[in-house]
Amino acid sequence: MALLLGWRKEGGSVMKSFLIKPVLDENYKKISHGKGVFLYDEDGKRYIDGSSGAVTCSIGHGVEEIIEVMNEQAQKISFVYRSHFTNEPAEKLAEELARVLPGSLNFSFFVNSGSEAVETALKVALQYWQEKGQYRKTKIISRWMSYHGITIGSLSLSGHTDRRFRFVPLLDTSPTIHPPYCYRCPYDLTYPDCQLKCAAELEVAIKRIGADHIAAFIAEPVIGAAGGAITPPHGYYQRLKEICGKHNILFIADEVMTGIGRTGKMLASEHWNFVPDIVALGKGLSAGYTPLAAAVVSDHVMEPIVMGSKMIMSGHTYSANPQSTAVGLAVLNYIEKNQLVSESLRKGSILLNELRKLQVKYSIVGEVRGVGMLTGMEFVSDIFKRIPFRKEINLTNFIVMKAKENGLIVYPSSTGIEGDSGDAILIAPPLTITEEELQLLIDLLDKTLYEVE
Ligand code: PLP
Repeated sequence: MALLLGWRKEGGSVMKSFLIKPVLDENYKKISHGKGVFLYDEDGKRYIDGSSGAVTCSIGHGVEEIIEVMNEQAQKISFVYRSHFTNEPAEKLAEELARVLPGSLNFSFFVNSGSEAVETALKVALQYWQEKGQYRKTKIISRWMSYHGITIGSLSLSGHTDRRFRFVPLLDTSPTIHPPYCYRCPYDLTYPDCQLKCAAELEVAIKRIGADHIAAFIAEPVIGAAGGAITPPHGYYQRLKEICGKHNILFIADEVMTGIGRTGKMLASEHWNFVPDIVALGKGLSAGYTPLAAAVVSDHVMEPIVMGSKMIMSGHTYSANPQSTAVGLAVLNYIEKNQLVSESLRKGSILLNELRKLQVKYSIVGEVRGVGMLTGMEFVSDIFKRIPFRKEINLTNFIVMKAKENGLIVYPSSTGIEGDSGDAILIAPPLTITEEELQLLIDLLDKTLYEVE
């Protein structure tokens, strides 16, 4: 659910902040500052940032090296328009991304948000087929229980009813296939006997629609905001990639949440040994120090565009601005220097282990899942029958609020399908968290679940 904060003028020139809709609690505090994994509010209360905000601040708050780079870049130049000049930080960041990403993901288009990165990826996919003379290949297939962004194109493909329903008249498409949600398999099957029916569903959809009409398939490797870290079974992505290849359909991985080391690999796709044709990055790319996101495109997708119209019909005023890209570059250097990708895998397995202990302890915890430092917990009213809580109870927000009272920030991530509550939270602390801090996070979550149950 989106958090809306507005400002209103109240008498004279006083600007007062107000909540258009208090989502989590009425007692909405102003934040004062942050350091490492901790946030401090105006009253000096300390919170452990157990979800890196919206799974964003992957290197923690107030990192001096990044602040120095921000200052240095601001002294040189903060903004230059991309069609007037190129700039060094943007070029270097594109070079570095080409080096650290798998396959031939060599072309970066920088934008300002994950939603824009997804929009850009979609436009590049459509343009690719146009440049090849295949004008009918325009449809994008996506899955239910997904979140690709809040702009109209990205929301059209997002399978999250609560986020969609107000804007349905503006949305020009909707998701087509089921997610790999083994905890409540849409076919009532069990892995591996299911033979990955949820993956095979893509081929059924392609045959119904006609491959000649489909430009691309888009998926989040681990479903985050709309699923609570739903992690697919082995073989699922390989099968999807094979199906896309067989039917000439591009594979777009939305790695806005999972990319840049969050899951213990530079891209989460690497866990399942596939290289997407186009990838959307955001969040961890600048780790929250500035708005920055990117659509990164493989050589073979760019080739007909480079040979054809030689331009991408997309871009925003702030695209590839030197201030943001300098931050992106500094964040990537920091991640590599401190080996945070492998640390994410190592500490992620400690985290998952500790969460599983809580699952044993509390009967409302139906499933614990995730990979690396992207983990989730789903809550149920009946652990054996996996029955969700009634939506009116609003359990997710209650847990998030209770955790906050206890000094722990977690991310609300209800699955929100078919009118069910699908209560879930994401636990995804900065990759820099120490083992001691991780234990503190677990203790606070333990305390919260004790109070809630
Ligand atoms: N894609 C995924 C997988 C996301 O998790 C999000 C945000 O949560 C987005 C896209 C949209 O990113 P932004 O909020 O930066 O527009």
